[in-house]
Amino acid sequence: MSTFQAPKGTYDLLPPDSAKYLAVREAIAAPLRNSGYGYIETPGFESVELFARGVGESTDIVSKEMYAFETKGGTKLALRPEGTASVLRAALEANLHKVGNLPVKLWYSGSYYRYERPQKGRYRHFSQVGAEAIGAEDPALDAELIILADQAYRTLGLRNFRILLNSLGDKECRPVYRAALQDFLRGLDLDEDTLRRAEINPLRVLDDKRESVQKQLGDAPLLRDYLCDACKAYHEEVRELITAASVAFEDDPKLVRGLDYYTRTTFEFVHDGLGSQSAVGGGGRYDGLSEMIGGPALPSVGWALGVDRTVLALEAEGVELELPAATSVYAVPLGDEARRVLFAKVTELRKLGVAADFSYGAKGLKGAMKNANRSGARYAVVAGERDLAEGVVQLKDMVSGEQTAIGVNEIVAELESRLG
Ligand code: ATP
Ligand code: MG
Repeated sequence: MSTFQAPKGTYDLLPPDSAKYLAVREAIAAPLRNSGYGYIETPGFESVELFARGVGESTDIVSKEMYAFETKGGTKLALRPEGTASVLRAALEANLHKVGNLPVKLWYSGSYYRYERPQKGRYRHFSQVGAEAIGAEDPALDAELIILADQAYRTLGLRNFRILLNSLGDKECRPVYRAALQDFLRGLDLDEDTLRRAEINPLRVLDDKRESVQKQLGDAPLLRDYLCDACKAYHEEVRELITAASVAFEDDPKLVRGLDYYTRTTFEFVHDGLGSQSAVGGGGRYDGLSEMIGGPALPSVGWALGVDRTVLALEAEGVELELPAATSVYAVPLGDEARRVLFAKVTELRKLGVAADFSYGAKGLKGAMKNANRSGARYAVVAGERDLAEGVVQLKDMVSGEQTAIGVNEIVAELESRLG
């Protein structure tokens, strides 16, 4: 213990568990890399105004959860609470939409910060992998993203997740629905805050988690009954493409993303083993966002998957990831000459790509073998003065316990061939 602890709502990733997080990030990224998405990295902080406009003033993320601060130079910045606004800002700034073919497809991975009430699955620092396809209105793109997220989760071994799907309409049909919903909400028994929300952003009221609110929403008008023909056709095609890919989903007519620039396709991945923090990922189409942050009209679609909650979901299902062994060979030198000889062998093995480690600090055989065991290595290579005088080292199979003398000059090739 030191004087300091990780800040409230955060936790450290430590070995061996941290390997799971790397594997989850990798598993989510692999299908994207394989589908034409290029990697993008943006700063951990941005102008506060980008999020105010790009996420929305009236959202919880901006109004309550943002880590905003002023620099010594008087610039107002915020730690990024999500990825989409930054990615779009960067793409516009670099003119990616002008120099390349549309859509510009990008993926990212990183840390995000929200000042939330910490609980299991809800942290102040968390990690997401996300994907954005910028500048095209094509139902195949919406379908592609949903299919790739499904593929990522399945490759990881997750089974008990569900995909919820809805359409939020567009600037033709949503305003009509919005007005109808507002009329309905005005007639309910709601607290002042919620009534105010109903005036500013009525769709968000549908997302209210409170039982007292939910039980009044049974007869609320549904967007699906208000969709214009273009939105209906678009949504139907997304559904058909996902179905044809054998990806199961559920229509959820009350699923909303409460931001004005979200249009048409919206979806969420939920896992049933996570209690109330059940969303492992979410996304949708955001045709209006580019214009909201001063860019041209660029219809786009994207998602972000939470790495922390995906790891919790894997644990809830009891899925053990097949992680590569951290160490395959562990060298145990007994004496100074053996140290020089085995250190050189370890270096050689590493250059060949074999994961190898070494017993550092003058340890006795017993302590060193304990470390060899702990390292998970398949083989230990032990050498003392007498072995070296005979031109050999001892190769110990840590699984069978079998020990064989192998020539010093042969040991690297022998290990390479045994490890395949
Ligand atoms: P929730 O409804 O649970 O607050 P959200 O709608 O705020 O989620 P998004 O902004 O869509 O979440 O972020 C995408 C994903 O990032 C979520 O599905 C979740 O897996 C993860 N995520 C969001 N906030 C947190 C957090 N505070 N801690 C851990 N993971 C988070
Ligand atoms: Mg949230």
